[in-house]
Parts: sequence; C-alpha cells; structure tokens
Amino acid sequence: MFCHEVWEYDNEKYEVTLVDFKTVCPACSDVIHFGNAQVRGVENEAFEHLMKINDMSSEEASDVIDTAYKIWELQNEHEWTIKISEELVFFNFPILENIDFGENRDLSDVNDC
Ligand SMILES: [Zn+2]
Repeated sequence: MFCHEVWEYDNEKYEVTLVDFKTVCPACSDVIHFGNAQVRGVENEAFEHLMKINDMSSEEASDVIDTAYKIWELQNEHEWTIKISEELVFFNFPILENIDFGENRDLSDVNDC
C-alpha cells in the first residue's frame, strides 16, 4: 500500500492545501499518478484499473484522463501557494496547539517537531 496525499485546490487564490492522507493500493496509485504510470510504461494497466474500479467504458475513462490533464495544464499556468490544513497539523502534532502562530498560522518557523 502507498500513502497518498489528499490536496484541496483553491483555483481562485491559487492555493493548494494538504488536507489528508489515505492509503491506496499500487494499482490505484498508478491511476492517481497516471503521468508517472505512462513514464514507467504501465499506463495500459492503470487505464484498465481505472475502468474496472469505476465500472467505466474506455470512452469514459479517456474523458476522465483528458479532463485531468486539461485541469493540470490550466493549474500549471499559475504560481501556487502550498499550505497544510490546521486540522491535519494539529491532529498529527498536538503539541503545536500550544504555539501561537498569529493570524496566518505560518508554520514555516516550526522546525523542531
Ligand atoms: Zn486500489
């Protein structure tokens, strides 16, 4: 199993926030990272897995991949700010709850956790 980051994209502020982690099997990881699967020559297996787990036709699966690439291209036209959700940080590092980060809760100065 792989640990997969779950990101939320704010396409107006160009902010992407790490909100969760989830475990995925290697085949699902290849679907999620389809470009990486293509580089490694396993895109056919990833495509078949995408169809199987979502009960999709090949046309539907192609549409999903095409749409994902279009979104990726549009998002790559901008500089993004990367954030970590407060809930994720404080759930995993409860000791940080006692630190005053001010309004912005900038975690960049926290190196000793
Ligand atoms: Zn899976």
